[in-house]
Amino acid sequence: MTPGPVEMPKYVLKILAEPMIHHRTEEFESTLDFCLHEIKKIFKTNGKVFFQTSTGSGGLESSLVNTLTPGDKVIAINGGKFGERWADMARNLGYNVVEHKVKWGQCFVVDEISELIKKHPETKAILVQACETSTGVMNPLEDLGAQLKKSDILLLVDAITALGCSDLDMDGWGLDVVVGGSQKAFMLPTGMSITAYSEKAWAFVQKSKTPKYYWDIKAEHKSNQKKQTLFSSPVAHIRCLKAVLEHIAEIGVETFIHKHKDLSKRARELAQPLGFEVFAQTPAWALTALKVPHGYDGEEIQLYMENEHHITIAGGQDFLKGKIIRIGHMGAIGSKETNLTFEKLAQTLRYLKK
Ligand SMILES: *Cc1c(COP(=O)(O)O)cnc(C)c1O
Repeated sequence: MTPGPVEMPKYVLKILAEPMIHHRTEEFESTLDFCLHEIKKIFKTNGKVFFQTSTGSGGLESSLVNTLTPGDKVIAINGGKFGERWADMARNLGYNVVEHKVKWGQCFVVDEISELIKKHPETKAILVQACETSTGVMNPLEDLGAQLKKSDILLLVDAITALGCSDLDMDGWGLDVVVGGSQKAFMLPTGMSITAYSEKAWAFVQKSKTPKYYWDIKAEHKSNQKKQTLFSSPVAHIRCLKAVLEHIAEIGVETFIHKHKDLSKRARELAQPLGFEVFAQTPAWALTALKVPHGYDGEEIQLYMENEHHITIAGGQDFLKGKIIRIGHMGAIGSKETNLTFEKLAQTLRYLKK
């Protein structure tokens, strides 16, 4: 029940047990080609999509080194652990980072970003989490996208816990690079990043002077046109992804996405009578972050849930350690598992009552 890695469906586990095939084969090439096209429906884009063998963070690095040039000014919105990390990453790679801190638990304010852009007119890109997984906050990306659409500034989005589990609309909202990861809503093992580029972003790719080799998305694109990946393909991930995308097509993209909305709503309803308060100002659908009731320690709750009830939930990171717990809504889980989690949380609170 954590916000990633998540419970995998049985049909994915079965595919993982199949014998390996070579990636330079017609069988694999048609699977890859299917996924490269079909996944655009999840991003809601006609742009270019890429699979790279890395965790989600690799996708975040890839998006920077492929669009920017060292010294470029970027505004990094930091409202939690993942915002902090992406800002650090950008600084380490030699970009000129203007960090915009947002109080943990709150979403950014679009007008504040507009003001910041006015102060730094040479800004090349904005870095932001769609959903900040450390706080459970969903950010107002549609409004920011509308502001930036006609500008020369790229909107780079960490959508690792938004893709497939929020109403994110890449083309409609004017998002330029959108990054996803395999182990969240896609219900796969960790190890594959998924990135999509708008036309505007692709123009930046042509001019980017950051050194790169493994991440080179132009070279990746050339390979993809031959239905191949630049290096050895993550065959297991792609094969499983095909099955997941077929499953999503069968039930409908919106039905799949709204499962997360429904579960997050249920979680908020079940949490309140137990004394939990929703931590996020604008709660995401991917996960629910809950302030633990007064007198309880979140780490103790987490440990007891794990050891006594065999349910894995996530705790708070950094200064939120012990203060919040986080319940995921992604993966092969539904209302049954969500109800059970809160039933066991109620028992846990009774047991731990001082
Ligand atoms: C999980 C997550 C990441 C990190 O992904 P890794 O696969 O661990 O590299 C980055 N950003 C967000 C918002 C996430 O939820």
